[in-house]
Amino acid sequence: MVKNVKKASAAVIGSLHQFTEDEVVTVRQKLLTWYDANHRVLPWRTIAATEPDRSKRAYAVWVSEIMLQQTQVSTVVSYFVKWMAKWPTVEDLARATLEEVNQVWAGLGYYSRARRLHEGAVKVVKELDGEFPDDRDSLIQHLPGIGRYSGSAIASIALGCGVGVVDGNVNRVFARVRGIGADITLQSTTEHMWTLANQLVDSDRPGDFNQAMMEFGATVCTPKNPSCNSCPLSVHCVSHHRSGDQQERASITNHFKKRKMPSESSAVPDIECLPECALCLRKEDWDSSLGVQNYPRKAQKTQSRQKASAVVVLQGNSGEMLLVQRPKKGLLANLWEFPSIALTDGDSHQEKEVTEQLINQFAVPSSLSSSRIFVADVIHIFSHIRQTYKVYKILLDDQKGLTWPSRYQGGQWMTRKEFVTSATSTAMKKVLKAVEVSEEKNKNEKKMGLVEKSPDTKKQKTISQFFTAAPKKK
Ligand SMILES: [Zn+2]
Repeated sequence: MVKNVKKASAAVIGSLHQFTEDEVVTVRQKLLTWYDANHRVLPWRTIAATEPDRSKRAYAVWVSEIMLQQTQVSTVVSYFVKWMAKWPTVEDLARATLEEVNQVWAGLGYYSRARRLHEGAVKVVKELDGEFPDDRDSLIQHLPGIGRYSGSAIASIALGCGVGVVDGNVNRVFARVRGIGADITLQSTTEHMWTLANQLVDSDRPGDFNQAMMEFGATVCTPKNPSCNSCPLSVHCVSHHRSGDQQERASITNHFKKRKMPSESSAVPDIECLPECALCLRKEDWDSSLGVQNYPRKAQKTQSRQKASAVVVLQGNSGEMLLVQRPKKGLLANLWEFPSIALTDGDSHQEKEVTEQLINQFAVPSSLSSSRIFVADVIHIFSHIRQTYKVYKILLDDQKGLTWPSRYQGGQWMTRKEFVTSATSTAMKKVLKAVEVSEEKNKNEKKMGLVEKSPDTKKQKTISQFFTAAPKKK
């Protein structure tokens, strides 16, 4: 919304990403020339160009913009023609019922758009005497569902207001021509794009210019395989310069050098920008196989960090388990969990580390610690962490004497019922589930006479041996 637009902060922006006054004139003229030769003839464009009544023009462009919000041009054309034949003016639309409106809209989808058109028409007739708002800000103020883009588009195309527009196509053109590699979804990047659009827009033909920008992006500077060879802006284009092979780059550079016109001598003065520039594509993000398609750039989804830890379920004779309570502050504060040991990724000494920590931090007898039973790997995704828990189980005949590191608030033996009702994380519930699944599997194997193959049983033997040999006391 226009009201909330903040001025760009004090971030450093290299001149590479801006247009000089001379470039504004040249680029503007090239785009309009391109548009005059190449633009598609569309019914709302014809109305905008030929209808003498300002309010009728605004109405038609408004209808087209709303239809185009979520639908392709080729689909919109026939709907627009049908709509305008039925309701040629905003008064006609205001008199229609919502049911009639929905009937004509049928097939376009997103019916809330039809409702907003009808609602807006009623508003214009009742509150504004049938006179359409006559500039961008009042369009945004009075019409439902009109934001900065739609308001600027209607104001420039229908009313001749000298305001620029930025949509996805315009973003792409600017990002490539001016080498803007900052995340396109950032507010600061968006604001820079609007600044460029408002600077570049032709005050005599703002509607044509804005449509030229959008159509140029949609048909020449396309997301994939843009037509750089026939692009009238290639000599101004930072991404084109950056992505060309050595020969091509040299020829573009020469082209700049040879320019006699002082106005164009600095079209791309230096392909390098300021080191601290906020809008540059970072060197490590440049992918040479993508060429100009390195721009525009969306922030990659935060790469999920991989973390691993060992989780040890220490289980007593009657099935009770040792749980420790996490610190009062930080991640998963106060929750109960099984004793956990953080693992260094890719460390080949992981197993040894788990054994040692079980002995040193939890006072698990050394033979039990090393002969723990591996249960399963449990994967759990925290907001941006992919955590792997290597789940182990140790059966204890004697529960006494165990300790826990001081980072925990305390420890407690819990039955499974108690565990389920205590404050534990989803991850720990998954861990218990894995233990239960493994026990169930083990039971079935026993039934099938596969007892000796079960690691659980084998280990249990070891444990009994241990306690017979050296019972733990304390
Ligand atoms: Zn820069």
